[in-house]
Amino acid sequence: MPTYVSPLLSGLGAPRILRWVWAGSRVDDTATQRRKLMQVNVAAGMMIFIILVFNLVYTAIGNTGLMQSGWAQLPFAALTPLIWHLNAKGRREWARWLLFVLAMAGCLAVIAGGQGTHGLAHTYFLLYAVMAACFFPTKSWRSVLTLSTVNFLIFLALQLYGWPAHYTVYNLEPQVLAVLRVVLQSGCVLVVLGVVVLSETVAERNEFQLRELAMTDLLTSLPNRRAFSQALVNEVARSLRHGRPLSLAVMDLDHFKRINDNYGHSAGDEALRHTAKVLRTHARCEDLVARIGGEEFALLMPETGADQAMEVAERMRSAVMAQALSERAGGESITISLGLATVPPGMDGEQALHTADRALYEAKRGGRNRVVAAAM
Ligand code: GH3
Ligand code: MG
Ligand code: MG
Repeated sequence: MPTYVSPLLSGLGAPRILRWVWAGSRVDDTATQRRKLMQVNVAAGMMIFIILVFNLVYTAIGNTGLMQSGWAQLPFAALTPLIWHLNAKGRREWARWLLFVLAMAGCLAVIAGGQGTHGLAHTYFLLYAVMAACFFPTKSWRSVLTLSTVNFLIFLALQLYGWPAHYTVYNLEPQVLAVLRVVLQSGCVLVVLGVVVLSETVAERNEFQLRELAMTDLLTSLPNRRAFSQALVNEVARSLRHGRPLSLAVMDLDHFKRINDNYGHSAGDEALRHTAKVLRTHARCEDLVARIGGEEFALLMPETGADQAMEVAERMRSAVMAQALSERAGGESITISLGLATVPPGMDGEQALHTADRALYEAKRGGRNRVVAAAM
């Protein structure tokens, strides 16, 4: 399975150095699977970073107890890249477990290595108890339950039976110790904040993409029937509220079946894309062009009365006729018939569409390549 690279990052030319964030993601992943995978990969990176930063700070302070507690964590930081390796090999459940085991072991190492429970490092076990649900998929609820329970019990045991720090730690100024405690605790909050921000951002983007997909016609990239119906309902309500005119046109390609029959289905598809482009180019920017059926398009014209709508419709008809199709689609021009309706007060969107459809039928019966406005 090819590795997935976020279009956002690859589009921005993401440096190779950031590829570990997506280690192991696949093109067939659901948005949630991809998000959880990213969270595990990012958490592994954050773990290494946090351990290194604490080691630097402890070395700068130059306190033996603190430095020992920092060194005790280094082996676990060194093992952390295994998480990316497991993800890249498709062993996601193992990677998630390894993340928690290393984080828990690292935290115990800090406590046993010199800080005791004096620095409140054991509050991280509460963080792990909560975080399990973020990193594991819902189907792995047994892992979540196990990890949450174990971490909570470890926190409880350390809270009840904790032990003091290495004696050198108490040589530190009380203010330095107080700051250390605050930093350790706010570290927990920052990790939660990071995970929440990451998942909210990704979830919002996924929702936006899904909405786009549900509202867009894949062949022509125009809004689809669902998007058109929604816009129509909104515009009908707006025109009624403000007493403004509203018109719509239903357009159908003439003898389109011939293109499919003579040149093949992909030539037909090309003709549809071509027509969509012409319609979009010649529509006004406040109008909405949509593909509402196989070879049927619709045009919604807010703030447009009957006469003006007729002008726009005629312009669309001429524009389509004037543009020859590509050689592959026969090289000739194609024509469209249009049915026009100006929505009177009290008529709903569905009725208006039906009225425009009837006018389209008249245009077809009248010989095609023409506009017929429905009598209101
Ligand atoms: P008329 O002037 O009466 O509208 O004639 P027509 O041939 O355009 O109408 P008809 O309804 O008989 O045929 C429409 C054709 O459009 C039939 C169908 O195969 C084709 N069609 C519908 N959707 C697509 C599509 O997505 N791609 C292609 N290539 N053809 C499509
Ligand atoms: Mg047709
Ligand atoms: Mg048709």
